[in-house]
Amino acid sequence: MPENIKHKVEEKVEEIKKIFAQYLDAHGQRKTPERFAILEEIYSRNDHFDAETLYIHMKNKNYRVSKATVYNTLDLLIECELVVKHQFGTNQSLFEKSFGFRQHDHLICMDCGRVLEFCDPRMEEIQNMIGQILHFGVKNHSLVLYGNCQTDNCEHLKLTPKEN
Ligand SMILES: [Zn+2]
Ligand SMILES: [Zn+2]
Repeated sequence: MPENIKHKVEEKVEEIKKIFAQYLDAHGQRKTPERFAILEEIYSRNDHFDAETLYIHMKNKNYRVSKATVYNTLDLLIECELVVKHQFGTNQSLFEKSFGFRQHDHLICMDCGRVLEFCDPRMEEIQNMIGQILHFGVKNHSLVLYGNCQTDNCEHLKLTPKEN
């Protein structure tokens, strides 16, 4: 990674940590190193992950975190809007980082569970227009498109057991 980009990423992580620290202070929660390690791990990922996967990943990196801490930290991060939680048509929750990253919507493959992202500026136009027409202060939206990813050789198809 080039030095200037690396520096920017580090700056962003510092900013995020500060937001989390302020949130924890304001809510009488302890600022434990485990919670910040989980935050850093989440911000080093670029995918949509479930809590179990995150926990196993932390374990593999030799962090001493309990499952309860992972779940509890995810809840706190959702509350302070550093992480978003998705329910993509299954009962499994998926998470992703949300601070300072571009707004996007999702496509879900009903065969293999693959999560794809897309970003279309028209979504914001629609949001603003509907808000104006209906005199409604729209804050955000959630749009999920379900279908088939149409990849012949989909590795997710082999990895993800089909539901039912
Ligand atoms: Zn698929
Ligand atoms: Zn996403």
